[in-house]
Amino acid sequence: MRTVAVTKIGSLRDPDESTRGRVGVVDFPEQPLGPEDVRIRVAYAAICGSDPHLAEGFFGTDVPIGLGHELSGVVEALGERAIRNGLRVGDRVAGNFLRFCGTCRPCQEGRQQFCENIQEYNRPGMAETVTWHESQVYKLPDSVSLLKGCLLEPTSVAVRIADKTSIKVGDRVAICGGGPIGQLALQVLKMHGATSLTLIEPIADRREMGLRHGAEHVIDPVAEDQRARADAITGGRGYDVVVDASGSPRAVRGLLDIAAKGGTVVYGAMYPETFEMPLNLSDYLYLKELTLTGVFVSPYAFPRALQILPHLDVDELTRAVFPLESAVEAFEAHVSGEHPKVVIRCNELEAVSS
Ligand SMILES: [Zn+2]
Ligand SMILES: [Zn+2]
Repeated sequence: MRTVAVTKIGSLRDPDESTRGRVGVVDFPEQPLGPEDVRIRVAYAAICGSDPHLAEGFFGTDVPIGLGHELSGVVEALGERAIRNGLRVGDRVAGNFLRFCGTCRPCQEGRQQFCENIQEYNRPGMAETVTWHESQVYKLPDSVSLLKGCLLEPTSVAVRIADKTSIKVGDRVAICGGGPIGQLALQVLKMHGATSLTLIEPIADRREMGLRHGAEHVIDPVAEDQRARADAITGGRGYDVVVDASGSPRAVRGLLDIAAKGGTVVYGAMYPETFEMPLNLSDYLYLKELTLTGVFVSPYAFPRALQILPHLDVDELTRAVFPLESAVEAFEAHVSGEHPKVVIRCNELEAVSS
């Protein structure tokens, strides 16, 4: 079964080809169909900002490492006991690449994100098929195409970010980073009643995309004085909610200065393993009483992501589609940043809209 995988550990951005990481299409055996499993013929799998981190060896260095956790497809087979959520062969589905066991202590305490058995069903979905436990699979609404459906997982991340902000209607909100997660978080926080909604992003195309999807203001953190702009937008008070969706060590420190007193800063990205951010406890935690938090995975967010996905405008995130055999070119396009998001078509399962 053809699967996109990291075939050599290293940065995909390394200018030196001899040390650069590599992605390719390899042959993996199809996973066995357990009694409670669902086999999905994958339609689309999107490249995630975290995929290059996997190439760098963040979660292990034994290659090949199968990729793909943002996917949609059609149910091809059901295990004999996979009947509890009403799925049928032929259903259009998406889902959570993580299976929470439901049995360990964190699962039973309502903190599935810390499930102690989380790895067991974490299978690569940038492949011809993927086999998941039925608890991971969600039927897509009729109004959501398979192409849009592959964004259910990143939408769940935006939902989880919104959960962690504890936003209230009318809160002033800034989002740093106009990649897919930042753009989705923008739309989701707009639904929550965000005001003074500001996207901070150095790439002009992505700022304009934000303005088309609900941002009231944009800041170019390279060309502009970010703090002065934030003060002007918020009347000197700062933002009640600040979200980092950039993962950029250069960007994250300044976010503490644009947060309002009593505000919440959500670091909602993956960061370099060895990066440490200086933090003046007197200024930010004592005097400003900031709440700082992060997002690891998205427990309890998928049912709500499924509810809001029909209401999100994601057309601009699904325009760059590459066939599975062109996975190498797809990753080159992703790394180049020329598209806001890159999607891989793993099987031809629906008429391709232009
Ligand atoms: Zn992702
Ligand atoms: Zn568990």
